[in-house]
Amino acid sequence: MTNLDTLVALAKRRGFIYPGSEIYGGLAGTWDYGHYGLALKNNLKNLWWKRFVTDREDMYGLDAAILMNERVWQVSGHVEGFSDPLPQKSSELRSDLKNPESQGQTLKQFNLMFRTQIGATDDAQVSYLRPETAQGMFVNFKNTVDSFHPPLPFGIAQIGKAFRNEIAPRDFLFRAREFEQMEIEYFVHPQVGQWEKVFEQFRLALHAFAKEIGLKEIHDLEVLATDRAHYSQRTIDFEFDFPFGRKELWGLAYRTDYDLTAHQLDYHDEATKSKIVPHVIEPSFGVDRTILAILSDAYTEDEMGGEKRVYLKLPPRLAPVTAAIFPLLKNKPELVTKALEIYRSLKLQAISYNLQAIVFDDNGNIGKRYRRQDEIGTPYCVTIDFQTLDDNTVTVRARDTGEQERVAVGELLDKIKDKT
Ligand code: ATP
Repeated sequence: MTNLDTLVALAKRRGFIYPGSEIYGGLAGTWDYGHYGLALKNNLKNLWWKRFVTDREDMYGLDAAILMNERVWQVSGHVEGFSDPLPQKSSELRSDLKNPESQGQTLKQFNLMFRTQIGATDDAQVSYLRPETAQGMFVNFKNTVDSFHPPLPFGIAQIGKAFRNEIAPRDFLFRAREFEQMEIEYFVHPQVGQWEKVFEQFRLALHAFAKEIGLKEIHDLEVLATDRAHYSQRTIDFEFDFPFGRKELWGLAYRTDYDLTAHQLDYHDEATKSKIVPHVIEPSFGVDRTILAILSDAYTEDEMGGEKRVYLKLPPRLAPVTAAIFPLLKNKPELVTKALEIYRSLKLQAISYNLQAIVFDDNGNIGKRYRRQDEIGTPYCVTIDFQTLDDNTVTVRARDTGEQERVAVGELLDKIKDKT
């Protein structure tokens, strides 16, 4: 854990995340992912998809359009109610206004949806950039049932962009205007006792996932009835200790039959040969907030060889690069040739072993290269030296300890492959 400015600087320096539209002075609430940030984000999304969709037998994927018929947002309640109180002065932040009535003011409500129009004519249809991915799953509930005939309980999962015209975007990726969500709408039978069981299973699954992505701790906050969204009968916010304080990372809500009833959708129950309206449990993850949490917990400073060093202690399966291959000296062709040979062979095999990228680096002295890879979070650095030419062994240096060991080239893959 470190302060936010240090993280923002490292993310930019090492090609993870850049401020959006930076050369034109930026655009508040937008962030661009560079080569390594994108790799980290893809690794996170792939792991989430594996754990919550492909490893299970009761999940169906979806990739719905971002633009939806405006009726969706009228029926869901977003046109009417998805708003924040507008500050009187631009310096006032949203968090200061959680309870405007208590300040004796009636504040104007500002709808957080980005409104747009579809088509060129004057009477063009209104639409919105979706503020959540959830509605895509409800709108495709019937399609999913018709295509796959899933028995209850089952879920629909989606990863995709969401947009909110946040009044005060801030805290790096934490509150952006364009961000990504990973959401599940999980449909259960309305009979007594069903949702509670599933809610608890997801609560535990969220904790297991937090652990797997290297988060030290997430804290359950049972949201009080007075603070819950109108559709929810139980909500847990999973909070994380960000550099700027303990804040919501993910959410888990019991949405009852609110959504399917609103969209007038139901389900034919084979057992009772009758129509029922399933109830919904919704685990909701913000991708970018999760990236920020991962970076916050992975950021580590220690001392190595009498010097301060910074490294990202990322779980290997999230790290943008699994191993970096170095020839000890750039100006010795025999070392470079051997290093390139090992690099290319590992790169080819990495795909079948589910490894992340293998990179080649001959730029600067070895110390500098180690430092660069440490800051990216690369678990292993492999150096090819003169001894390699004699006995076909290399040194493998572990990121967290800095310890080096000699490994035969034939055993390299086994050494660096993910054992989890
Ligand atoms: P907050 O109270 O912080 O505005 P929320 O309760 O409105 O969040 P949800 O509507 O539950 O958030 O959205 C689900 C998840 O999407 C959140 O837990 C968070 O991870 C992510 N998220 C929501 N808004 C933003 C945003 N502006 N920027 C980045 N991520 C966001």
